[in-house]
Amino acid sequence: MSATLAGTCPECETDLTTPPMIQGETMTCPECMLTLRVEHVQNGTLSLEMVEVKLRDWGQ
Ligand SMILES: [Zn+2]
Repeated sequence: MSATLAGTCPECETDLTTPPMIQGETMTCPECMLTLRVEHVQNGTLSLEMVEVKLRDWGQ
């Protein structure tokens, strides 16, 4: 049994599995590419919240 956490993207409802994270960390949803922040972790389940980010094309 690996130490991973499970969560659901609040935007696209994709089931996510992540390495261990702590409250306040951010990740990017692989489906919708939104930045999500860990609100809290409980029993191996992540509560994720969308982070308001101005998406910019950082391409050169
Ligand atoms: Zn998503």
